Amino acid sequence: MEKREELYSGKAKSVYTTDEADKLVLEFRDDTSAFDGKKKEKLSRKGMVNNRFNAFIMDKIAAAGIETHHISLLSDHESLVKKLDMIPVECVVRNIAAGSICRRLGVEEGLDLNPPTFEFFLKNDELGDPMINEFHIRSFGWAEAEHIEKMKTLTFAVNDVLKELFLAGGMLLVDYKLEFGLFEGRVVLGDEFSPDGCRLWDQQTREKLDKDRFRQGLGGVVEAYEEVGRRIGIQFD
Ligand code: C5P
Repeated sequence: MEKREELYSGKAKSVYTTDEADKLVLEFRDDTSAFDGKKKEKLSRKGMVNNRFNAFIMDKIAAAGIETHHISLLSDHESLVKKLDMIPVECVVRNIAAGSICRRLGVEEGLDLNPPTFEFFLKNDELGDPMINEFHIRSFGWAEAEHIEKMKTLTFAVNDVLKELFLAGGMLLVDYKLEFGLFEGRVVLGDEFSPDGCRLWDQQTREKLDKDRFRQGLGGVVEAYEEVGRRIGIQFD
């Protein structure tokens, strides 16, 4: 496999074509951003940590029978993935209230959500990723009804796998965001799963171990990501 030209560069990852039309290389950079790119910083080791973290989680998800785009780790910063036709929506599951739901609905951070709740957002930085519903997705043609159902089912299935995994490491999976795409007509998990796109709290102390450390200027961002990784069995060095 040969890495070719850059196809796209996002806020924390770049995507490259390869000599195989149905495969891409994801490069996890050290860049970190929040608030739709308004806060930006380079954090040493973050690209490597997230690349390895993502590969480990994608393998766990695949082992549970959920198809993902991840194929293999290529290097410290790169992974090989299947090329998906991405659906431009973000799927969020929340087990505990935190972040935007607290602002939108006036609920207190830390409230247990039973059952866990689900939200769709449009992937559009200029609009600040607005919350949307299934009717928007169908009316604007972002995804078909059958694929919307599949995204919800798969996002909740990931919750069952990962809540357990993090709990075994003494952590609460508060919420997370997933993105899906189509591969040969099937809905497949794409993008990444790392502490950049989820909230994880220490079960005992409720200390934040995710990107909220960056958003809220708490420091020790990459150290927290590595701590999470170590607790679930990832070796970084
Ligand atoms: O900001 P909000 O509370 O809606 O985020 C819910 C979850 O989705 C958080 O874990 C956050 O890190 C993740 N998220 C993300 N990318 C976005 C928006 C949210 O990874 N563009």
